[in-house]
Amino acid sequence: MILGSHVSYKELGLLGCAQEASSYGANTFMFYTGAPQNTIRKNIDEKITLQAHAFMASHHLFLSQVICHAPYIINLANKANLEKWRFSISFLKQELKRCEALGVFKMVLHPGSAVNISKEEGLQNIVEGLNEVCKDYPVTILLETMAGKGNECGSTLEEIQYLLSHVEHPEKFGVCLDTCHLSDAGYDLHDFDAFLQKFDALIGIKKIGCVHLNDSKNALGSHKDRHENIGFGTIGFQTLNAICHHEKLKEVPKILETPYIGIDSDAKEKIYPPYLFEIEMFKSNTFYPDLLDKVRSHYKNA
Ligand code: FE
Ligand code: FE
Ligand code: ZN
Repeated sequence: MILGSHVSYKELGLLGCAQEASSYGANTFMFYTGAPQNTIRKNIDEKITLQAHAFMASHHLFLSQVICHAPYIINLANKANLEKWRFSISFLKQELKRCEALGVFKMVLHPGSAVNISKEEGLQNIVEGLNEVCKDYPVTILLETMAGKGNECGSTLEEIQYLLSHVEHPEKFGVCLDTCHLSDAGYDLHDFDAFLQKFDALIGIKKIGCVHLNDSKNALGSHKDRHENIGFGTIGFQTLNAICHHEKLKEVPKILETPYIGIDSDAKEKIYPPYLFEIEMFKSNTFYPDLLDKVRSHYKNA
């Protein structure tokens, strides 16, 4: 089982990420190269990157399974403002270059949002954008399945399939399944084998390069995109645990993007990552009804 969470890339870059992931008992992780909502990025420190690789090698972390997430301000669907579209493309190229420098070869990307245009047009713009970025980098771009908030492209398997079948180099692309997004988009994951069968017929299981394992705060088909802690949402522990341990997804990294937990339910100033215990739940196939308390008491005095 390849399992980790989103971690933060701060002063120590990739080394900080690896140390944080290790503190959760993870064997992989996902990071943004800076704040996901902006494009301010520090240069990559080669020495720290080498230290990170060494740390990972000695702490059961698989570099080949590490995921970088592109910032969500990149929107390849929207070409109305050509300058912005060009900026998305050039920034994505820089991100791919950074990945290569870090030794990371999988990047998750939100396909884009069709603002004031039809989805068909949006999808066409995304294909064009993807054709421009993918060529020069040895990084696989994983298109994330979206919840269908607003006019998000990639909220149906057919749209993902459209993108993968229209890009010039389909071998450079794969898919990231986000369980919260899939459920919010209307895919019932409780019969996950039926879902996988459908996915396989349309796209091919081999294309799955990452799974975002999240519970959802909202009902099936709600198009909301609000992640919930594992076992506390509408998908539930049993289903998420079955996906986590699924034989056909054994080689695929699973990444938790569940919300941090407040020290008490209304104090927002101190929040703690749930990942150590959520990972433990999956490793032991056991739901913790007292997850929130476990997290609070673990970090309170740390
Ligand atoms: Fe995402
Ligand atoms: Fe996600
Ligand atoms: Zn989401």
